[in-house]
Amino acid sequence: MGGVLGPDAIAARVDGELKDLSFVPRGDVSVEPVEAGSEDGLHVLRHSAAHVLAQAVCRLWPGTKYAIGPAIEDGFYYDLAIPVHVSADELPRIEEEMRAIVAEDQPFIREEVSRSEALARFSDQDFKREIIEDLAEQEGEVGPGDTVILYRNDDWLDLCLGPHVASTGRIGAFTLTSISGAYWRGDEKNPQLTRIYGTAWASKEDLEAHLHRLEEAERRDHRLLGRQLDLFSSPEELGPGLWVWHPRGGLFRKQLEDWVRDLHLARGYDPVVTPHIARSVLWETSGHLAKYSDNMYPPMQTDTGDYYVKPMNVARAAAHPWRHAG
Ligand SMILES: [Zn+2]
Repeated sequence: MGGVLGPDAIAARVDGELKDLSFVPRGDVSVEPVEAGSEDGLHVLRHSAAHVLAQAVCRLWPGTKYAIGPAIEDGFYYDLAIPVHVSADELPRIEEEMRAIVAEDQPFIREEVSRSEALARFSDQDFKREIIEDLAEQEGEVGPGDTVILYRNDDWLDLCLGPHVASTGRIGAFTLTSISGAYWRGDEKNPQLTRIYGTAWASKEDLEAHLHRLEEAERRDHRLLGRQLDLFSSPEELGPGLWVWHPRGGLFRKQLEDWVRDLHLARGYDPVVTPHIARSVLWETSGHLAKYSDNMYPPMQTDTGDYYVKPMNVARAAAHPWRHAG
């Protein structure tokens, strides 16, 4: 399909669905090219880069178990259980291994296998086996009936619906950005994994522009500016994230608030003011207590009833005095 769609296509939309370039339609379909720089194309590119990231880590540290590796906004990550401790110092080495895999231009090969065969092929990959077993309960999630879809490049295998770029050589402009911890399935009772983040773009220029934007954002980091410009501080004795606004910051904040209020009035909103705490009956009526009581502050018990702090964050509460007139 690649030849028909032109050299810039890295995947295709076939009757609206994203497919690999190797997909062979049965019968008449509508086919549109997906180019690397488009939103869909970047998703495919980043998702493919995540495979190569995990593959590189497996090559460097045999015995690595790989969990999940999605494309995310501006990049990708992979969660891995690596047999040794890996710090940010190792990112250049992992990136070098990824570049070697890219240079090998390994084709991504789609395979449809039975559930039992998939389990056998992932015999040393506990996380993948767990996902396959879970999907077995939700029939159809991984493919029709008993079929599981796998993608292989070289001898490295992942459980995945695709699509991917045709071969690793199409993943050109990427870099690894950071490393952190993450729990398997986001549950702190589960094993802690190493999460490695990267970013991938359609061209070297796009990658450089992105890295430049990150640098600029860092220079404008509000935590840094707050200190440098003597706007606010968070004294240890008050608790983390509890801010004290200094005179310059206080004035700046007032000007922002005035501007926001004026803007609301100009756009037809009416101001109303509501208390920050209320009797339990309000939160029973709203449904908050039934649904979110675990995440609400405990009640203040008084002679006139139990009072709860309203269960919305400060930013939302600040916007709350305003009600749209329309
Ligand atoms: Zn994949």
